[in-house]
Amino acid sequence: MSSQAHLGDVLVLGLGRTGESAARYLAALGPGRVSSVTLYGGVSAQAGERTEALEGAGVRVVCGTEEVSGSFDLAVASPGIPMDSAFFRAARDCSREVVSEPELAWRESPERWIAVTGTNGKTTTTSLATHLLREGGLAARSVGNIGTPPTEAVPDRTEGDWLVAELSSFQLAETSLFHPRAAVLLNVTPDHLEWHHTMEAYAAAKERAFANLGAGDLAVVSVDDDWCRAVAGRCEARGVRTCRLSVCSEPDAPCAAFLREGTLVVRLDGVEHELLPADELKIFGLHNAENALAAAAVALEAGVTRDDVRAGLRSFSPIEHRIEPAGTVAGVRYVNDSKATNTDSVEKALTAFDAGTIVVMLGGHDKMTDLASLAGAVCERCRVAVCFGEAGERIAGALEAARAERGSGLEVLRAPHLREAFSAARAAARPGDTVLLSPACSSFDEFSNMAERGRLFKRLVSELADEGALS
Ligand code: ADP
Repeated sequence: MSSQAHLGDVLVLGLGRTGESAARYLAALGPGRVSSVTLYGGVSAQAGERTEALEGAGVRVVCGTEEVSGSFDLAVASPGIPMDSAFFRAARDCSREVVSEPELAWRESPERWIAVTGTNGKTTTTSLATHLLREGGLAARSVGNIGTPPTEAVPDRTEGDWLVAELSSFQLAETSLFHPRAAVLLNVTPDHLEWHHTMEAYAAAKERAFANLGAGDLAVVSVDDDWCRAVAGRCEARGVRTCRLSVCSEPDAPCAAFLREGTLVVRLDGVEHELLPADELKIFGLHNAENALAAAAVALEAGVTRDDVRAGLRSFSPIEHRIEPAGTVAGVRYVNDSKATNTDSVEKALTAFDAGTIVVMLGGHDKMTDLASLAGAVCERCRVAVCFGEAGERIAGALEAARAERGSGLEVLRAPHLREAFSAARAAARPGDTVLLSPACSSFDEFSNMAERGRLFKRLVSELADEGALS
């Protein structure tokens, strides 16, 4: 299924899973398609089993330096390497073209791609879209940020299958020809500004998913935030079929996805598909209704029937660490939303539970984001907030300031780490409450990643349940 262009001398940057996958893919193409494959791992990369295996596959591997030398026809970047870093600049200076790994995979196998991007909700929407396509009897695979690099999936593609690609702004920044059959933009709120520097650059990178869409494709774009609404307008102005996605209003457009009296509705070219009431979904909250609408729109576009979309929406369960029910002990429900690493996702998660019954756990590595809006939402919806970790004190201060301003009854507690925060939350919770780990921070002050943090939370809940069983 591959295109047959000769790629010449190719440079791969980075020795993570993406770089490794791209290098393996390229080396396997053989001399008919590539003249050479060189991988630069970066300063911290070290020779070892992985580099030996790559060398065995025919890749020249250079570790321990960011001074790239040579001359390349194509460079494949990895998302972890910022475009303004010396390493990236050195690679660009000696390459005719730099592309991201998904762009390479798309060029090699451009049929039937669906792209999903946005600040929050990408993984949920990607998995749900794949689930709905499969429910409709289509072969589909989730790739990209979600786990499998697209170049790893390309050699296994079969006739008629779909790739649903979760793409971050880093991956989209280095695309030029990428042209999926449908693309989704869920939202654009501040995040990753340390990489892109400005909101304009961050939003422009996300918009690249739509750059090559034409009249026969489908752009599914939220109209609930200003950044996305502008993208929707620009797609429409270019004649791209644009499905206006909203959970706040019913867009007056031939293609739209929205809630009507709590029911999910997708309209494509004027034809309405009434799906199901949002409260029949197993994924909670308005933001998840938005994710479900987006996934349903692309599935219908790919030819899945309304009944199959309905059945798939009904059967889809929360993904681990995303508003994931972790058990109920002594009448208190525990929910793991460790994946909520920015303030917007916490604000959305808080809408999934009744106001006044939430004991939220906030904290972790401090990204120094503005806390005003989060603090307002916590005062409005939570009974108790337990602040922990490196960012704990700053969050507690912001909550106390918002509480004083609003005269709210929020109880603000402090704890050094997640474990102590869990004990404090448990002690403060009453039957009927929800203890929600939705930390608004990354986890690196205490854990190696958000999954480790979420797993500790779940372990603490099950220990509690065991204690309850013994007493
Ligand atoms: P991503 O892959 O973009 O990080 P996920 O689907 O993993 O997104 O969800 C991460 C967190 O973002 C969730 O735990 C939830 O709190 C929040 N979230 C999910 N969907 C949305 C959305 N559509 N809008 C805003 N926040 C969302």
